[in-house]
Amino acid sequence: MRHPKQAKQLVDRFGRTVDYVRISITDRCDFRCLYCMSEEMTFLPREQILSLEEIYLLAKCFTELGVGKIRITGGEPLIRRNALDLLQKIGDLPLLEELVMTTNGSQLSSTAEQLKQAHVSRLNISLDTLDAKKFKDLTRTGDLDVVLKGIRTAIKTGFKSIKINAVILKNRNHNEVVDLVQFALDSGIDISFIEEMPLGSIDSHNRAEAYYSSDQILIDLQEKFTLEKIAETTAGPSDYYRVQGTTTKVGFISPHSHNFCSSCNRVRLTAEGRLLLCLGNDHSIDLKTALRTHPNDTDYIKQLLIDSMDIKPEKHEFDLNEQPIIMRHMNTTGG
Ligand code: SAM
Ligand code: SF4
Repeated sequence: MRHPKQAKQLVDRFGRTVDYVRISITDRCDFRCLYCMSEEMTFLPREQILSLEEIYLLAKCFTELGVGKIRITGGEPLIRRNALDLLQKIGDLPLLEELVMTTNGSQLSSTAEQLKQAHVSRLNISLDTLDAKKFKDLTRTGDLDVVLKGIRTAIKTGFKSIKINAVILKNRNHNEVVDLVQFALDSGIDISFIEEMPLGSIDSHNRAEAYYSSDQILIDLQEKFTLEKIAETTAGPSDYYRVQGTTTKVGFISPHSHNFCSSCNRVRLTAEGRLLLCLGNDHSIDLKTALRTHPNDTDYIKQLLIDSMDIKPEKHEFDLNEQPIIMRHMNTTGG
């Protein structure tokens, strides 16, 4: 931990303390992953997204209310112009304990060193398959070799932890779960498997048919590895196991099969400045208008953040067989 903790002032109606914020700094991306976006996407015009200065001011307000951990995400965060300058500034916030990032890895081979300099301590890198053709199919535009090179560079650069995020879809990549864990083992990094969430409408597949549960992945993995359940000390939605005799952790994020809302400690800021109180609900407040009508009035903003806790929903309900009720895609949500 880099700094003494600030008093935690963001507490919701259910007694949950929010000390973790995910900030989506762009809704744009160089990939078009099937489960995240539809093939044709309309992105926000520039004037509708928060400026880097506005994002920084909000990050600062959050830390002054006891938020110790910030994750930078997107869209693909590393394709936003001057993203590294913003990361450097947020990484220098005196009350921040941890700056982390989620990325698709496409820009990592040229940016890993600067991320480390900016005090980014942990990276989540998305990788759903080790097959180049399947990678192209799943991401529509991505190049597996570029991402693998990025992952290797990040490992060499030396972060506190690197974790692969893999969304598993039946009949697309479910037969690769063992290979993906083997890849994590060989690379000395961690991996989490994520059940696909019904956010936004997509045209590539039926989400209910593609559902592949965490429990089934665990069964598949246990044929090859000995996995020991471990108690994680950090709050969060993952169940963790360790591959016996190694340092590699295998996590499961199971929004359908294991609801994790009771321990929710986070909120999300979208690129257009909406503070989302829950991943699976639309409860939100408009921070962009607040910032633009009360420029630099941090007391006003901080009070809004405190008040927003009153509308944080108790839990999400996802139903894969229904039309999505949440129309925003994951690139907007900031996963
Ligand atoms: N572009 C970066 C990346 O892919 O890592 C960061 C943003 S992306 C929206 C964050 C994470 O959300 C990725 O790990 C991605 O696999 C995951 N994701 C996207 N759409 C999802 C969905 N419908 N269900 C579950 N996870 C999803
Ligand atoms: Fe882009 Fe990440 Fe969404 Fe894939 S999951 S389309 S890399 S934002």
